Amino acid sequence: MPPGEFELIARYFTRAPRRSAVALGVGDDCALLAPAPGMELAVTTDLLIEGRHFLASVPPERLGHKALAVNLSDLAACGAEPLAFTLALAMPAADERFLAGFAQGLFALAEAHGVDLVGGDTTAGPLALAITAFGQVPAGAALRRSGARAGDELWVSGTLGDARLALELFRGRVALGAEELEAVRRAMECPVPRVALGIALRGVASAAIDLSDGLVGDLGHILRRSGVGARVERDVLPRSAALARQDEALQHECLLAGGDDYELLFTAPAARHDAVRAAARAAGVAVTRIGRIEAGTQLRIVDAQGAAVALRWQGFDHFAPAGLPAGPAAASPAAPGNTGADAGR
Ligand SMILES: [Mg+2]
Repeated sequence: MPPGEFELIARYFTRAPRRSAVALGVGDDCALLAPAPGMELAVTTDLLIEGRHFLASVPPERLGHKALAVNLSDLAACGAEPLAFTLALAMPAADERFLAGFAQGLFALAEAHGVDLVGGDTTAGPLALAITAFGQVPAGAALRRSGARAGDELWVSGTLGDARLALELFRGRVALGAEELEAVRRAMECPVPRVALGIALRGVASAAIDLSDGLVGDLGHILRRSGVGARVERDVLPRSAALARQDEALQHECLLAGGDDYELLFTAPAARHDAVRAAARAAGVAVTRIGRIEAGTQLRIVDAQGAAVALRWQGFDHFAPAGLPAGPAAASPAAPGNTGADAGR
């Protein structure tokens, strides 16, 4: 007889909690979380749908990693320390090969961040998964989208655009060598949540967001919530060697409208420039100053001469047509991950 739901949960998703903040983990009707005294609970959720955010051919280990990574990235954007998460999973049939791989990728990242799976649900249905993650942050210290002020410097971590470059590869629009292909595919399928950087930026950054839907779209969230404008220097946007080799129009599209970067975009007063550098060093993450917050409400992208360039792109919109290509290019063994896992909550 095939294993039932409870046996599958026991086999793949039940582990003893490691965190003292988890007073009660998997196995009861509710989990009980107890953030440390003086801490606020940060909560975020992301829903991933097959065909919309990933293809069935994505390796299950990487899907497990990414499903948790996009949630940890949201906690990072708030400067929160991850504590625990729940998982809701729908799948057409009890596919144990998939579950074993998925659980391996999921728990490898969970253990790297000391975060416990404390509950969830499984059901039969089209492949879809939702993770809700819980973190803690000192009361009043959470980074928000609303704190940017005119004169603040605008920063981004890591490099941008590789996940979008991978998507264009699967669409057959670009060709890459084997090494570059694996690098951009990793960027798309195995994003690194910037948790340590988010925590190090508490008290330093004035506003922050994680880049899930593209620089222009996600910066727009900060500008609207803060009631400010910004000037972004297009030619200093950090990019990988693989992206830097592409034609300029494609580079700009990937950098400005790419999506799925999961880097942190943040602002800080110019007087805190050295503190930003120190936080990045402490977190072991490269950061680049890409522009400045301005009075008004306009977003201006400028070239190396300071001339404004036309804004052709919006952020990823889940309700717009298009989205993922029909499938990986025939010559490619790889599959795209997700084109924007976060609806901006
Ligand atoms: Mg987000």
